[in-house]
Amino acid sequence: METISHFVDGNRVAGTSGRHGDVYNPATGDVIAKVPMANADDVHAAVLGAAAAQTAWAATNPQRRARVLMSFVSLLNRDMDKLAVALSREHGKTLPDARGDIQRGLEVAEFCIGAPHLLKGEFTDSAGPGIDMYSMRQPVGVVAGITPFNFPAMIPMWKFCPAIAAGNAFILKPSERDPSVTVMLAELMQEAGLPDSVLQVIHGDKEAVDAILDHPGVGAVGFVGSTPIAEYIYSRASANGKRAACFGGAKNHMIVMPDANMDQAADALVGSGYGAAGERCMAVSVAVPVGEATADALIEKLVPRVEALKVGPYTGESDIDYGPLITRDAKDRVLGLVQSGVDAGAELVVDGRDFSLQGYEDGFFVGPHLFDRVSADMDIYKTEIFGPVLSTVRAESYESAITLAMDNEFGNGAAIFTRDGDTARDFANRINIGMVGINVPIPVPLAFHTFGGWKKSAFGDLNQHGPDAFRFYTRTKTVTARWPSGIKEGAAFSIPVME
Ligand code: NAD
Repeated sequence: METISHFVDGNRVAGTSGRHGDVYNPATGDVIAKVPMANADDVHAAVLGAAAAQTAWAATNPQRRARVLMSFVSLLNRDMDKLAVALSREHGKTLPDARGDIQRGLEVAEFCIGAPHLLKGEFTDSAGPGIDMYSMRQPVGVVAGITPFNFPAMIPMWKFCPAIAAGNAFILKPSERDPSVTVMLAELMQEAGLPDSVLQVIHGDKEAVDAILDHPGVGAVGFVGSTPIAEYIYSRASANGKRAACFGGAKNHMIVMPDANMDQAADALVGSGYGAAGERCMAVSVAVPVGEATADALIEKLVPRVEALKVGPYTGESDIDYGPLITRDAKDRVLGLVQSGVDAGAELVVDGRDFSLQGYEDGFFVGPHLFDRVSADMDIYKTEIFGPVLSTVRAESYESAITLAMDNEFGNGAAIFTRDGDTARDFANRINIGMVGINVPIPVPLAFHTFGGWKKSAFGDLNQHGPDAFRFYTRTKTVTARWPSGIKEGAAFSIPVME
Protein backbone atom coordinates (compact mmCIF):
# COMPACT_ATOMS: atom_id res chain seq x y z
CA MET A 1 0.00 0.00 0.00
CA GLU A 2 1.23 3.48 -0.86
CA THR A 3 2.30 5.73 2.01
CA ILE A 4 1.99 9.43 1.37
CA SER A 5 4.70 11.68 2.85
CA HIS A 6 4.92 15.13 4.32
CA PHE A 7 7.08 17.48 2.24
CA VAL A 8 9.51 19.34 4.48
CA ASP A 9 12.80 21.14 3.73
CA GLY A 10 12.64 19.97 0.12
CA ASN A 11 12.16 16.27 0.86
CA ARG A 12 9.39 13.72 1.29
CA VAL A 13 9.52 12.77 4.97
CA ALA A 14 7.59 10.28 7.10
CA GLY A 15 7.12 12.34 10.27
CA THR A 16 7.52 11.09 13.81
CA SER A 17 3.99 10.49 15.11
CA GLY A 18 3.57 6.92 13.88
CA ARG A 19 -0.12 7.73 13.42
CA HIS A 20 -1.72 7.29 9.98
CA GLY A 21 -5.09 7.92 8.33
CA ASP A 22 -6.72 6.02 5.47
CA VAL A 23 -7.09 7.58 2.02
CA TYR A 24 -9.84 6.03 -0.11
CA ASN A 25 -10.65 5.71 -3.75
CA PRO A 26 -14.27 6.86 -3.26
CA ALA A 27 -15.37 5.18 -6.49
CA THR A 28 -14.45 1.70 -5.25
CA GLY A 29 -14.47 2.21 -1.50
CA ASP A 30 -10.94 0.76 -1.28
CA VAL A 31 -8.24 2.17 0.96
CA ILE A 32 -5.51 3.15 -1.51
CA ALA A 33 -2.98 4.93 0.70
CA LYS A 34 -1.97 5.77 4.23
CA VAL A 35 -1.31 9.38 5.16
CA PRO A 36 0.85 10.33 8.15
CA MET A 37 -0.83 12.45 10.83
CA ALA A 38 1.61 15.04 12.08
CA ASN A 39 2.13 15.76 15.76
CA ALA A 40 3.31 18.99 17.39
CA ASP A 41 6.99 18.01 16.93
CA ASP A 42 6.50 17.55 13.18
CA VAL A 43 4.79 20.93 12.95
CA HIS A 44 7.52 22.56 15.02
CA ALA A 45 10.26 21.17 12.78
CA ALA A 46 8.44 22.44 9.68
CA VAL A 47 7.98 25.92 11.17
CA LEU A 48 11.65 26.14 12.20
CA GLY A 49 12.80 25.18 8.70
CA ALA A 50 10.37 27.65 7.15
CA ALA A 51 11.48 30.47 9.44
CA ALA A 52 15.14 29.85 8.57
CA ALA A 53 14.38 30.01 4.83
CA GLN A 54 11.97 32.93 4.97
CA THR A 55 14.48 35.71 5.64
CA ALA A 56 16.45 35.07 2.46
CA TRP A 57 13.25 34.52 0.48
CA ALA A 58 11.83 37.87 1.66
CA ALA A 59 15.11 39.54 0.65
CA THR A 60 14.86 38.10 -2.88
CA ASN A 61 13.61 40.73 -5.34
CA PRO A 62 9.87 40.50 -5.90
CA GLN A 63 10.27 39.96 -9.63
CA ARG A 64 12.55 36.97 -9.02
CA ARG A 65 9.98 35.54 -6.64
CA ALA A 66 7.31 36.13 -9.26
CA ARG A 67 9.39 34.27 -11.85
CA VAL A 68 9.14 31.13 -9.71
CA LEU A 69 5.37 31.36 -10.09
CA MET A 70 5.76 31.94 -13.82
CA SER A 71 7.69 28.66 -14.12
CA PHE A 72 5.19 26.96 -11.79
CA VAL A 73 2.37 27.88 -14.17
CA SER A 74 4.10 26.20 -17.10
CA LEU A 75 4.88 23.12 -14.99
CA LEU A 76 1.21 22.91 -13.98
CA ASN A 77 0.26 22.98 -17.65
CA ARG A 78 2.88 20.33 -18.43
CA ASP A 79 1.60 18.01 -15.67
CA MET A 80 -2.10 18.89 -15.85
CA ASP A 81 -3.27 15.39 -16.78
CA LYS A 82 -1.09 13.64 -14.22
CA LEU A 83 -2.29 15.98 -11.47
CA ALA A 84 -5.92 15.58 -12.51
CA VAL A 85 -5.72 11.76 -12.33
CA ALA A 86 -4.12 11.90 -8.85
CA LEU A 87 -6.80 14.34 -7.73
CA SER A 88 -9.76 12.39 -9.12
CA ARG A 89 -8.46 9.11 -7.75
CA GLU A 90 -8.69 10.39 -4.16
CA HIS A 91 -11.53 12.90 -4.51
CA GLY A 92 -13.76 11.13 -7.01
CA LYS A 93 -14.64 14.12 -9.22
CA THR A 94 -14.62 13.67 -12.99
CA LEU A 95 -11.38 14.34 -14.86
CA PRO A 96 -12.63 17.51 -16.61
CA ASP A 97 -13.76 18.82 -13.22
CA ALA A 98 -10.37 17.93 -11.70
CA ARG A 99 -8.66 19.87 -14.49
CA GLY A 100 -10.93 22.82 -13.64
CA ASP A 101 -9.87 22.51 -9.98
CA ILE A 102 -6.21 22.78 -11.02
CA GLN A 103 -6.92 25.50 -13.59
CA ARG A 104 -8.67 27.75 -11.03
CA GLY A 105 -5.57 27.46 -8.81
CA LEU A 106 -3.25 28.04 -11.76
CA GLU A 107 -5.09 31.28 -12.52
CA VAL A 108 -4.25 32.58 -9.05
CA ALA A 109 -0.60 31.65 -9.65
CA GLU A 110 -0.82 33.65 -12.90
CA PHE A 111 -2.26 36.64 -11.04
CA CYS A 112 0.62 36.41 -8.54
CA ILE A 113 3.16 36.85 -11.34
CA GLY A 114 2.09 40.52 -11.08
CA ALA A 115 2.83 40.60 -7.33
CA PRO A 116 5.62 43.22 -7.61
CA HIS A 117 2.99 45.75 -8.67
CA LEU A 118 0.81 44.94 -5.65
CA LEU A 119 3.76 45.10 -3.23
CA LYS A 120 5.00 48.56 -4.27
CA GLY A 121 3.73 50.46 -1.25
CA GLU A 122 3.04 54.21 -1.04
CA PHE A 123 5.17 57.35 -0.98
CA THR A 124 4.45 60.96 -0.03
CA ASP A 125 7.08 63.43 -1.11
CA SER A 126 7.49 66.40 1.32
CA ALA A 127 4.93 65.22 3.86
CA GLY A 128 6.42 67.97 6.07
CA PRO A 129 9.34 70.40 5.65
CA GLY A 130 12.16 68.21 4.41
CA ILE A 131 10.23 65.12 5.42
CA ASP A 132 9.18 62.18 3.24
CA MET A 133 6.80 59.46 4.30
CA TYR A 134 6.56 55.99 2.82
CA SER A 135 4.69 52.80 3.55
CA MET A 136 6.15 49.39 2.77
CA ARG A 137 4.34 46.08 2.48
CA GLN A 138 6.46 43.51 4.25
CA PRO A 139 5.75 39.77 4.51
CA VAL A 140 4.23 38.48 7.73
CA GLY A 141 6.90 35.74 8.05
CA VAL A 142 5.81 32.13 8.36
CA VAL A 143 2.11 31.73 7.56
CA ALA A 144 -0.13 28.68 7.34
CA GLY A 145 -3.06 27.39 5.28
CA ILE A 146 -5.53 24.70 6.36
CA THR A 147 -7.62 23.50 3.45
CA PRO A 148 -10.68 21.32 2.71
CA PHE A 149 -11.11 18.12 0.70
CA ASN A 150 -13.40 19.50 -1.99
CA PHE A 151 -10.86 21.51 -4.00
CA PRO A 152 -7.60 19.74 -3.13
CA ALA A 153 -5.52 21.66 -5.70
CA MET A 154 -7.28 25.00 -6.16
CA ILE A 155 -7.61 26.12 -2.54
CA PRO A 156 -4.05 25.23 -1.49
CA MET A 157 -2.86 27.29 -4.50
CA TRP A 158 -5.19 30.18 -3.56
CA LYS A 159 -3.37 30.22 -0.23
CA PHE A 160 0.29 29.55 -0.96
CA CYS A 161 0.76 31.39 -4.26
CA PRO A 162 0.08 34.93 -2.96
CA ALA A 163 1.72 34.22 0.41
CA ILE A 164 4.93 33.04 -1.23
CA ALA A 165 4.91 35.76 -3.90
CA ALA A 166 4.72 38.29 -1.04
CA GLY A 167 7.87 36.86 0.56
CA ASN A 168 6.40 34.59 3.25
CA ALA A 169 7.23 30.96 3.94
CA PHE A 170 4.16 28.72 3.98
CA ILE A 171 3.01 25.73 6.03
CA LEU A 172 0.22 23.90 4.18
CA LYS A 173 -2.01 21.48 6.09
CA PRO A 174 -4.21 20.02 3.33
CA SER A 175 -7.23 17.80 3.85
CA GLU A 176 -6.22 14.36 5.07
CA ARG A 177 -8.88 12.86 2.75
CA ASP A 178 -7.18 13.68 -0.57
CA PRO A 179 -3.65 14.84 0.23
CA SER A 180 -1.50 13.47 -2.63
CA VAL A 181 -1.88 16.31 -5.09
CA THR A 182 -0.52 18.88 -2.61
CA VAL A 183 2.80 17.07 -2.35
CA MET A 184 2.97 17.04 -6.15
CA LEU A 185 2.29 20.80 -6.19
CA ALA A 186 5.06 21.43 -3.64
CA GLU A 187 7.48 19.41 -5.79
CA LEU A 188 6.51 21.46 -8.83
CA MET A 189 7.20 24.67 -6.87
CA GLN A 190 10.64 23.22 -6.01
CA GLU A 191 11.23 22.38 -9.69
CA ALA A 192 10.13 25.93 -10.56
CA GLY A 193 13.00 27.27 -8.45
CA LEU A 194 11.46 27.80 -5.01
CA PRO A 195 14.16 27.43 -2.34
CA ASP A 196 13.68 24.45 -0.02
CA SER A 197 11.61 25.01 3.14
CA VAL A 198 9.68 28.02 1.78
CA LEU A 199 6.72 25.69 1.15
CA GLN A 200 6.23 22.87 3.67
CA VAL A 201 3.37 20.38 3.44
CA ILE A 202 2.30 18.79 6.72
CA HIS A 203 -0.55 16.27 6.74
CA GLY A 204 -2.80 15.61 9.65
CA ASP A 205 -5.96 16.30 11.58
CA LYS A 206 -6.91 18.36 14.64
CA GLU A 207 -3.62 17.59 16.39
CA ALA A 208 -1.57 19.14 13.56
CA VAL A 209 -4.01 22.03 13.17
CA ASP A 210 -3.91 22.88 16.88
CA ALA A 211 -0.10 22.76 16.82
CA ILE A 212 -0.15 25.30 13.97
CA LEU A 213 -2.68 27.52 15.77
CA ASP A 214 -0.62 27.52 18.97
CA HIS A 215 2.83 27.86 17.39
CA PRO A 216 4.35 31.25 18.18
CA GLY A 217 6.36 31.14 14.94
CA VAL A 218 3.23 31.23 12.72
CA GLY A 219 1.99 34.77 12.05
CA ALA A 220 -1.16 34.22 10.00
CA VAL A 221 -3.60 31.41 9.31
CA GLY A 222 -5.84 31.04 6.28
CA PHE A 223 -8.55 28.40 6.55
CA VAL A 224 -11.23 26.98 4.26
CA GLY A 225 -13.67 24.31 5.40
CA SER A 226 -16.91 23.86 7.30
CA THR A 227 -18.38 26.68 9.39
CA PRO A 228 -17.94 25.20 12.89
CA ILE A 229 -14.24 24.55 12.23
CA ALA A 230 -13.80 27.97 10.55
CA GLU A 231 -15.24 29.63 13.64
CA TYR A 232 -13.02 27.54 15.94
CA ILE A 233 -9.87 28.26 13.97
CA TYR A 234 -10.64 31.95 13.72
CA SER A 235 -11.11 32.32 17.46
CA ARG A 236 -8.12 30.19 18.50
CA ALA A 237 -5.76 31.79 15.97
CA SER A 238 -6.89 35.32 16.90
CA ALA A 239 -6.63 34.57 20.62
CA ASN A 240 -3.03 33.57 19.94
CA GLY A 241 -2.36 36.92 18.26
CA LYS A 242 -2.35 35.63 14.69
CA ARG A 243 -4.06 37.08 11.69
CA ALA A 244 -6.86 34.83 10.54
CA ALA A 245 -9.08 34.62 7.48
CA CYS A 246 -11.40 31.63 7.72
CA PHE A 247 -13.96 30.65 5.11
CA GLY A 248 -16.85 28.35 5.98
CA GLY A 249 -19.88 26.58 4.61
CA ALA A 250 -22.74 27.73 2.44
CA LYS A 251 -26.36 27.39 1.45
CA ASN A 252 -26.62 29.12 -1.89
CA HIS A 253 -30.00 30.20 -3.25
CA MET A 254 -30.97 30.78 -6.85
CA ILE A 255 -34.08 32.88 -7.34
CA VAL A 256 -35.97 32.17 -10.55
CA MET A 257 -38.24 35.03 -11.60
CA PRO A 258 -41.38 34.44 -13.73
CA ASP A 259 -39.74 36.22 -16.69
CA ALA A 260 -36.62 33.97 -16.67
CA ASN A 261 -35.89 31.60 -19.50
CA MET A 262 -36.88 28.32 -17.81
CA ASP A 263 -34.59 26.12 -19.94
CA GLN A 264 -31.59 28.26 -19.06
CA ALA A 265 -32.55 28.36 -15.39
CA ALA A 266 -33.05 24.57 -15.27
CA ASP A 267 -29.71 23.91 -17.02
CA ALA A 268 -27.98 26.29 -14.62
CA LEU A 269 -29.53 24.61 -11.58
CA VAL A 270 -28.61 21.13 -12.72
CA GLY A 271 -24.97 22.04 -13.46
CA SER A 272 -24.44 24.00 -10.28
CA GLY A 273 -26.52 21.80 -7.99
CA TYR A 274 -25.18 18.40 -9.01
CA GLY A 275 -21.69 19.15 -10.45
CA ALA A 276 -18.96 17.57 -8.29
CA ALA A 277 -21.84 15.69 -6.56
CA GLY A 278 -22.84 18.96 -4.88
CA GLU A 279 -19.56 19.05 -2.95
CA ARG A 280 -18.85 22.69 -3.76
CA CYS A 281 -19.15 25.69 -1.47
CA MET A 282 -20.60 27.54 -4.44
CA ALA A 283 -23.10 24.81 -5.38
CA VAL A 284 -26.64 26.09 -5.70
CA SER A 285 -28.56 23.94 -3.22
CA VAL A 286 -31.82 25.91 -3.01
CA ALA A 287 -33.95 26.88 -6.02
CA VAL A 288 -36.46 29.62 -5.23
CA PRO A 289 -39.02 29.98 -8.03
CA VAL A 290 -41.26 33.02 -7.62
CA GLY A 291 -44.95 32.24 -8.05
CA GLU A 292 -46.73 28.89 -8.38
CA ALA A 293 -46.73 28.95 -12.18
CA THR A 294 -42.96 29.55 -12.26
CA ALA A 295 -42.43 26.76 -9.74
CA ASP A 296 -44.54 24.29 -11.75
CA ALA A 297 -42.75 25.21 -14.98
CA LEU A 298 -39.33 24.94 -13.35
CA ILE A 299 -40.01 21.54 -11.75
CA GLU A 300 -41.31 20.27 -15.09
CA LYS A 301 -38.03 21.31 -16.74
CA LEU A 302 -35.86 20.04 -13.88
CA VAL A 303 -37.24 16.52 -13.42
CA PRO A 304 -36.15 15.01 -16.77
CA ARG A 305 -32.78 16.74 -16.54
CA VAL A 306 -32.11 15.45 -13.01
CA GLU A 307 -33.31 11.95 -13.91
CA ALA A 308 -30.95 11.89 -16.88
CA LEU A 309 -27.84 12.70 -14.84
CA LYS A 310 -25.08 10.17 -15.34
CA VAL A 311 -23.21 9.16 -12.20
CA GLY A 312 -19.98 7.19 -12.34
CA PRO A 313 -16.26 6.86 -11.62
CA TYR A 314 -13.65 9.24 -13.06
CA THR A 315 -12.31 6.32 -15.07
CA GLY A 316 -15.69 5.85 -16.79
CA GLU A 317 -17.24 7.35 -19.93
CA SER A 318 -16.53 10.97 -20.83
CA ASP A 319 -20.21 11.91 -20.45
CA ILE A 320 -20.33 11.21 -16.70
CA ASP A 321 -21.78 14.22 -14.87
CA TYR A 322 -20.56 13.57 -11.37
CA GLY A 323 -18.76 11.00 -9.23
CA PRO A 324 -18.98 9.62 -5.70
CA LEU A 325 -18.97 11.51 -2.40
CA ILE A 326 -15.72 11.68 -0.48
CA THR A 327 -16.40 9.08 2.26
CA ARG A 328 -18.94 6.51 3.35
CA ASP A 329 -19.80 8.80 6.28
CA ALA A 330 -20.56 11.63 3.86
CA LYS A 331 -22.83 9.30 1.86
CA ASP A 332 -24.67 8.10 4.98
CA ARG A 333 -25.05 11.69 6.22
CA VAL A 334 -26.55 12.88 2.91
CA LEU A 335 -28.97 9.94 2.72
CA GLY A 336 -29.97 10.62 6.33
CA LEU A 337 -30.75 14.23 5.47
CA VAL A 338 -32.79 13.11 2.44
CA GLN A 339 -34.81 10.86 4.75
CA SER A 340 -35.32 13.76 7.17
CA GLY A 341 -36.71 15.83 4.28
CA VAL A 342 -39.17 13.07 3.36
CA ASP A 343 -40.18 12.70 7.02
CA ALA A 344 -40.69 16.46 7.35
CA GLY A 345 -43.14 16.42 4.43
CA ALA A 346 -41.06 17.78 1.53
CA GLU A 347 -41.94 16.25 -1.86
CA LEU A 348 -39.11 14.08 -3.21
CA VAL A 349 -39.83 14.42 -6.92
CA VAL A 350 -36.61 12.69 -8.00
CA ASP A 351 -35.62 9.94 -5.61
CA GLY A 352 -32.03 8.70 -5.87
CA ARG A 353 -32.07 6.65 -2.67
CA ASP A 354 -31.91 3.27 -4.42
CA PHE A 355 -29.07 4.26 -6.70
CA SER A 356 -26.41 1.61 -7.16
CA LEU A 357 -23.71 1.29 -9.77
CA GLN A 358 -22.88 -2.15 -11.11
CA GLY A 359 -19.28 -3.04 -10.31
CA TYR A 360 -19.00 -0.14 -7.86
CA GLU A 361 -21.41 -1.27 -5.15
CA ASP A 362 -18.88 -0.37 -2.43
CA GLY A 363 -18.22 3.10 -3.83
CA PHE A 364 -19.62 6.20 -2.15
CA PHE A 365 -22.04 7.11 -4.96
CA VAL A 366 -25.31 8.89 -4.23
CA GLY A 367 -28.00 9.23 -6.88
CA PRO A 368 -29.47 12.64 -7.71
CA HIS A 369 -32.33 13.93 -5.55
CA LEU A 370 -34.76 16.76 -6.20
CA PHE A 371 -37.09 18.10 -3.54
CA ASP A 372 -40.11 20.33 -4.11
CA ARG A 373 -42.16 22.21 -1.48
CA VAL A 374 -39.32 22.49 1.03
CA SER A 375 -39.91 24.99 3.82
CA ALA A 376 -37.45 27.10 5.81
CA ASP A 377 -37.97 25.18 9.05
CA MET A 378 -36.83 21.82 7.61
CA ASP A 379 -33.35 20.44 8.31
CA ILE A 380 -32.74 19.94 4.57
CA TYR A 381 -33.16 23.70 4.18
CA LYS A 382 -31.17 24.77 7.22
CA THR A 383 -28.23 22.38 6.82
CA GLU A 384 -25.48 22.47 4.21
CA ILE A 385 -26.11 19.05 2.64
CA PHE A 386 -22.95 18.92 0.47
CA GLY A 387 -24.39 16.23 -1.76
CA PRO A 388 -26.40 15.83 -5.00
CA VAL A 389 -29.63 17.16 -3.49
CA LEU A 390 -31.46 20.25 -4.77
CA SER A 391 -34.25 21.71 -2.65
CA THR A 392 -37.02 23.86 -4.10
CA VAL A 393 -38.60 26.47 -1.84
CA ARG A 394 -41.61 28.06 -3.56
CA ALA A 395 -41.84 31.83 -2.89
CA GLU A 396 -44.97 33.93 -3.29
CA SER A 397 -43.14 37.04 -4.41
CA TYR A 398 -39.72 38.47 -5.22
CA GLU A 399 -39.77 40.14 -1.79
CA SER A 400 -40.30 36.86 0.07
CA ALA A 401 -37.63 35.16 -2.09
CA ILE A 402 -34.94 37.75 -1.33
CA THR A 403 -35.95 37.78 2.36
CA LEU A 404 -35.51 34.00 2.51
CA ALA A 405 -31.95 34.24 1.18
CA MET A 406 -31.17 37.21 3.43
CA ASP A 407 -32.46 35.47 6.55
CA ASN A 408 -30.34 32.37 5.92
CA GLU A 409 -27.34 32.20 8.24
CA PHE A 410 -24.91 31.54 5.37
CA GLY A 411 -23.85 34.20 2.89
CA ASN A 412 -21.43 32.72 0.38
CA GLY A 413 -23.19 32.98 -2.99
CA ALA A 414 -26.61 33.74 -4.43
CA ALA A 415 -28.00 34.05 -7.94
CA ILE A 416 -31.01 35.46 -9.69
CA PHE A 417 -32.35 34.45 -13.08
CA THR A 418 -34.45 37.18 -14.69
CA ARG A 419 -34.71 39.24 -17.86
CA ASP A 420 -35.51 42.39 -15.90
CA GLY A 421 -32.55 44.69 -15.24
CA ASP A 422 -34.29 46.57 -12.46
CA THR A 423 -34.97 43.41 -10.44
CA ALA A 424 -31.41 42.22 -11.01
CA ARG A 425 -29.98 45.56 -9.83
CA ASP A 426 -32.17 45.58 -6.75
CA PHE A 427 -31.09 42.03 -5.93
CA ALA A 428 -27.37 42.78 -6.34
CA ASN A 429 -27.63 45.91 -4.20
CA ARG A 430 -29.69 44.57 -1.33
CA ILE A 431 -28.62 40.99 -0.87
CA ASN A 432 -26.39 40.42 2.21
CA ILE A 433 -24.26 37.79 0.49
CA GLY A 434 -20.65 38.05 -0.71
CA MET A 435 -20.80 36.71 -4.28
CA VAL A 436 -23.75 37.33 -6.55
CA GLY A 437 -24.69 35.87 -9.93
CA ILE A 438 -27.07 37.52 -12.37
CA ASN A 439 -28.14 34.84 -14.83
CA VAL A 440 -24.95 33.05 -13.71
CA PRO A 441 -25.41 30.12 -11.34
CA ILE A 442 -21.98 29.71 -9.73
CA PRO A 443 -20.61 33.22 -9.32
CA VAL A 444 -17.00 32.26 -8.52
CA PRO A 445 -14.95 35.42 -9.06
CA LEU A 446 -11.82 35.22 -11.19
CA ALA A 447 -8.32 35.40 -9.69
CA PHE A 448 -7.94 39.19 -9.99
CA HIS A 449 -11.13 39.81 -7.96
CA THR A 450 -11.53 38.51 -4.44
CA PHE A 451 -13.49 35.51 -3.23
CA GLY A 452 -15.35 35.46 0.07
CA GLY A 453 -18.74 35.16 1.68
CA TRP A 454 -20.60 37.09 4.36
CA LYS A 455 -22.36 36.05 7.57
CA LYS A 456 -21.48 32.50 8.76
CA SER A 457 -19.61 31.78 5.53
CA ALA A 458 -16.51 33.77 6.49
CA PHE A 459 -14.70 34.92 9.62
CA GLY A 460 -12.14 37.68 9.26
CA ASP A 461 -11.81 40.92 7.35
CA LEU A 462 -10.17 40.06 4.07
CA ASN A 463 -11.11 37.80 1.18
CA GLN A 464 -9.16 35.17 -0.69
CA HIS A 465 -7.05 35.87 -3.81
CA GLY A 466 -7.12 39.13 -5.75
CA PRO A 467 -5.65 42.22 -4.04
CA ASP A 468 -7.00 41.17 -0.61
CA ALA A 469 -4.60 38.21 -0.52
CA PHE A 470 -1.66 40.60 -0.67
CA ARG A 471 -3.14 42.69 2.13
CA PHE A 472 -3.58 39.58 4.24
CA TYR A 473 -0.09 38.20 3.67
CA THR A 474 1.75 41.50 4.21
CA ARG A 475 2.06 43.99 7.03
CA THR A 476 2.31 47.70 6.43
CA LYS A 477 5.25 49.59 7.88
CA THR A 478 5.27 53.38 7.54
CA VAL A 479 8.53 55.31 7.64
CA THR A 480 8.85 59.06 8.22
CA ALA A 481 12.27 60.29 7.12
CA ARG A 482 14.06 63.62 7.52
CA TRP A 483 17.60 64.04 6.35
CA PRO A 484 19.59 66.95 7.87
CA SER A 485 21.15 69.27 5.28
CA GLY A 486 24.48 68.04 4.02
CA ILE A 487 27.38 69.99 2.45
CA LYS A 488 26.12 71.37 -0.82
CA GLU A 489 28.72 74.16 -1.34
CA GLY A 490 31.74 72.01 -2.15
CA ALA A 491 35.01 71.65 -0.24
CA ALA A 492 36.05 74.24 2.44
CA PHE A 493 39.75 75.16 2.53
CA SER A 494 39.82 77.39 5.63
CA ILE A 495 40.15 75.72 9.01
CA PRO A 496 36.66 75.42 10.57
CA VAL A 497 36.24 77.53 13.70
CA MET A 498 33.45 77.57 16.25
CA GLU A 499 31.43 80.80 16.03
P1 NAD B 1 -13.69 20.43 7.33
O1 NAD B 1 -14.05 21.64 8.12
O2 NAD B 1 -14.10 19.10 7.83
O3 NAD B 1 -12.08 20.35 7.16
C1 NAD B 1 -11.33 21.43 6.67
C2 NAD B 1 -9.93 21.35 7.26
O4 NAD B 1 -10.02 21.47 8.68
C3 NAD B 1 -9.20 20.05 6.97
O5 NAD B 1 -7.86 20.34 6.66
C4 NAD B 1 -9.34 19.28 8.27
O6 NAD B 1 -8.26 18.42 8.51
C5 NAD B 1 -9.39 20.37 9.32
N1 NAD B 1 -10.21 20.00 10.49
C6 NAD B 1 -11.33 19.22 10.49
N2 NAD B 1 -11.80 19.11 11.74
C7 NAD B 1 -10.99 19.83 12.54
C8 NAD B 1 -10.98 20.11 13.94
N3 NAD B 1 -11.92 19.63 14.76
N4 NAD B 1 -10.02 20.91 14.42
C9 NAD B 1 -9.07 21.41 13.61
N5 NAD B 1 -9.02 21.18 12.28
C10 NAD B 1 -9.98 20.40 11.74
O7 NAD B 1 -14.22 20.70 5.84
P2 NAD B 1 -14.24 19.69 4.61
O8 NAD B 1 -15.27 18.65 4.84
O9 NAD B 1 -12.85 19.26 4.25
O10 NAD B 1 -14.71 20.69 3.43
C11 NAD B 1 -16.05 20.94 3.15
C12 NAD B 1 -16.49 22.26 3.74
O11 NAD B 1 -15.68 23.32 3.27
C13 NAD B 1 -17.91 22.64 3.33
O12 NAD B 1 -18.59 23.15 4.46
C14 NAD B 1 -17.71 23.72 2.27
O13 NAD B 1 -18.78 24.61 2.12
C15 NAD B 1 -16.51 24.40 2.81
N6 NAD B 1 -15.83 25.17 1.78
C16 NAD B 1 -15.88 26.52 1.86
C17 NAD B 1 -15.27 27.29 0.88
C18 NAD B 1 -15.29 28.80 0.96
O14 NAD B 1 -14.48 29.43 0.31
N7 NAD B 1 -16.17 29.38 1.74
C19 NAD B 1 -14.59 26.66 -0.18
C20 NAD B 1 -14.55 25.27 -0.21
C21 NAD B 1 -15.17 24.52 0.78
